[in-house]
Amino acid sequence: MNDRHPETDAIRTQVPTSAEREHAVPLYLTSSFVFDTAEQARALFADELPGNIYSRYSNPNTDEFIAKLCKLEGAEDGLATASGMAAVFASLAGLLSSGDHVVASRAIFGSTHQLFTKLLPRWGITSDYADLGDASQFEARIRPNTKAIFIETPSNPGLALGDLDAIGALAKARGLVLIVDNCFTTPYLQQPIRHGAHLVVHSATKYMDGQGRTLGGAVVGSAALIKELRFFARHTGPALSPFNAWVLSKSLETLAVRMDRHCDNALAVATHFEGKPGVRSVRYPFLPSHPQHALAKRQMSQGGGIVVLVLEGGIERARRFLDALRLVSHSPNLGDTRTIVTHPTSTTHSKLTEAERVAVGIVPGLVRVSVGLEHVADVIADLEQALSASA
Ligand SMILES: *Cc1c(COP(=O)(O)O)cnc(C)c1O
Repeated sequence: MNDRHPETDAIRTQVPTSAEREHAVPLYLTSSFVFDTAEQARALFADELPGNIYSRYSNPNTDEFIAKLCKLEGAEDGLATASGMAAVFASLAGLLSSGDHVVASRAIFGSTHQLFTKLLPRWGITSDYADLGDASQFEARIRPNTKAIFIETPSNPGLALGDLDAIGALAKARGLVLIVDNCFTTPYLQQPIRHGAHLVVHSATKYMDGQGRTLGGAVVGSAALIKELRFFARHTGPALSPFNAWVLSKSLETLAVRMDRHCDNALAVATHFEGKPGVRSVRYPFLPSHPQHALAKRQMSQGGGIVVLVLEGGIERARRFLDALRLVSHSPNLGDTRTIVTHPTSTTHSKLTEAERVAVGIVPGLVRVSVGLEHVADVIADLEQALSASA
């Protein structure tokens, strides 16, 4: 058993060094690997020998990134993908067949919603939504052909929480695969596998890269399930590029220190704006006013880097607020060093109907703030002046 701390594993997990004895892993920008003998080639293809064959299957850079992530999540094995959505899609399409059914949380990433409602049904895979905060609804939606439960906690952008222990116990009791999108927290704050999840998916584009420069994703979990997903990925090709894997592996070395600062800054922003004139409400898991504050404290070590502000004055006020920002960026990303504000109603969640948005708490005045690593006083000052200017 590994008893080192996650910060240490994220730094000290390395693929074997080359003949050069380098201290940090080099970039393995190679499409394929050479065979020493005909027998070695045969054995590698027959899975009788471990080793690299072709970078769509595996590469030392993706191996290192995944080895670190598995240690952080407490997972047996994993798969790197070109984006978070490739990871979400692989986790479902790699396991499910026509006729299968999934129970998913209604509050879910916009593209994941499109996947469940528009794309997977093309191949006969159907789904039903349950309210993330109510484990009994998940149970009520289970059908004889249900194979998996898919949740995101905290949800994007509503910051609702799912009870990982309760939903994990349900999945276990009913023999279902529990898949958790852990993008908002990263394994530094929350480890769903320790609560009964079988697979964890990530958009590494967000906090893992952490600097708004790299697309990537991953699925980690039980060795048996990852084996199935690896077969799917090997023959459908959602592979992560070695260069992006190299960046992401390096970025995991600083995940802990970055997350500590994101969380400190986010808590400061949330605390500052709660009760301010012009702000109807503030949502942040580690504010006592969050309706699931006790659950947040139980399953998350800190509150994360995302704060939701619901502004008075609806969509018009929200638009004026965005246009008045001077330092903070208006962009659809999150988990960047730079603080970013997003207006889900008009951008990331614009494809949902008004009723679908309201059902997951996305009201017109809601803005999502991904609090970055700038000095928090400067972030607060800019949000404050935009709030005044938009009044
Ligand atoms: C961004 C995001 C994704 C998709 O990730 P990409 O890397 O953009 O494909 C999936 N889930 C959540 C919760 C996200 O925030």
